[in-house]
Amino acid sequence: MTPLADRPVNIVGAGLAGALLAVLLARRAFAVDVYERRPDPRQAQGERGRSINLALAARGIRALERAGMMERIRPLLIPMRGRMVHSMSGETQLQPYGQRQDEVIYSVSRSELNRVLIEEAARHPRVRLRFRHTCLEALPGAGVLRLRDEGTGSECTVPLAPTVATDGAGSAVRSGLARAGLVSVREDRLDHDYKELTLPAAHDGRPAMEPHALHIWPRGGFMLIALPNIDGSFTATLFLARSGPDSFQTLTGPDRIRSFFQSQFADAAQLMPRLVEEFTAHPQGQLGTVYTHPWHVGGQVLLLGDAAHAIVPFHGQGMNAAFEDCLILDSLLDQHDDWDTLFADLEFCRLPNAAAIAQMALENYVEMRDTVRDPTYLRRKALAMELERRFPAFIPRYSMVMFHPEIPYAEALRRGSVQEQILEELDERSGLGEADFDRELARALIAERLA
Ligand SMILES: Cc1cc2nc3c(=O)[nH]c(=O)nc-3n(C[C@H](O)[C@H](O)[C@H](O)COP(=O)(O)OP(=O)(O)OC[C@H]3O[C@@H](n4cnc5c(N)ncnc54)[C@H](O)[C@@H]3O)c2cc1C
Repeated sequence: MTPLADRPVNIVGAGLAGALLAVLLARRAFAVDVYERRPDPRQAQGERGRSINLALAARGIRALERAGMMERIRPLLIPMRGRMVHSMSGETQLQPYGQRQDEVIYSVSRSELNRVLIEEAARHPRVRLRFRHTCLEALPGAGVLRLRDEGTGSECTVPLAPTVATDGAGSAVRSGLARAGLVSVREDRLDHDYKELTLPAAHDGRPAMEPHALHIWPRGGFMLIALPNIDGSFTATLFLARSGPDSFQTLTGPDRIRSFFQSQFADAAQLMPRLVEEFTAHPQGQLGTVYTHPWHVGGQVLLLGDAAHAIVPFHGQGMNAAFEDCLILDSLLDQHDDWDTLFADLEFCRLPNAAAIAQMALENYVEMRDTVRDPTYLRRKALAMELERRFPAFIPRYSMVMFHPEIPYAEALRRGSVQEQILEELDERSGLGEADFDRELARALIAERLA
């Protein structure tokens, strides 16, 4: 047993990363105290109006496997083989994500996944779960974590070191450290917000659309997407500018909501009987990227997951990246016997990768809402897949991110831009068709630049 296990570890936030980390630490015989401000999800109803389902991909799966969780999680998963793109006239076209049978991503309910992780954490006698306990701040100077029991309203402190803060994008721990000048934070809010809506199952309980796809209605400046749920329904999310001509600001009142959906997403609108009611009742969520530096204060406290590096959701990687953080932390426990160097090493490994996925997630918004309709993009995508079939060194960037957890995000970003240049050069010199490209030139460029 590592000498680090002689002290209990505090985890702030039993969301996706916090609950998984509790399981991983418990498997190494650590004592873990988890503080979560929400009620116990094993007793309460899942929270609605937030991102209800999420795309799980290889990086997240690898971390769940390390925690021995995949057998329990597999029944919650719905494979999605590609993007089903819906045109204005209602025609659909499936754009496969990958080309091998196992190159799929999975839709999973956020609340179910979180509940299963919490159940697993709770099975370990050395994990203490404190629900309705809000962390007010971390005070490294005083060496304490300030907490409020929401049941009684009373406040208390516990020794800070070591604490891992997985309290999400709006992290109270991060804010406190920033106020004290111990970390610097930049929060770039996107000028687009989101709202979640439901496409219920048909009367016979069957899905009203193809269930093994992530549906997209790309409309240039905005988009609707929908991911399948186990009960045959879909959770749709509208991503739209906050203000301006086509924006949330203009969607005031039932008539405007209805006519906007009728004109832009007619095939989806007819599958949404509670559109206006839900649109009016559900919260308008904000999106943004959080850049933090450093992620830790000595060996006392570490920010992890969204608390350190929240990103926009357009690559479906926020949770996957947060799970990968947990996996790396778990691996580093084999190499270090003090928290200070472990936290520093984790930040060293992860910060460039977090920056890379933040950038790729922002780029993917334009791809999803706009470029997927562009014939040049489609030709290039077909050529990229052809190159992947012929040359093992060439893996499309989307595939590196989603299906190749052995390739760090920063490397996927770097190789991705080299590959873009190769595609461009093949285009300029020999025409882009996937059938008639210059194979010798492709071989030479790939050998030279992607060794
Ligand atoms: C619309 C949308 C769609 C998304 N889709 C995807 C997707 O398809 N795939 C993907 O990988 N990611 C997706 N994400 C991102 C994903 O939701 C996050 O990256 C992920 O939830 C991060 O996990 P976390 O544990 O760091 O934070 P969270 O899951 O947010 O957990 C934070 C936890 O901390 C608790 N907490 C907060 N403050 C306190 C406090 N002061 N004291 C105690 N507890 C506290 C919260 O109640 C919560 O339980 C999406 C996000 C959004 C907004």
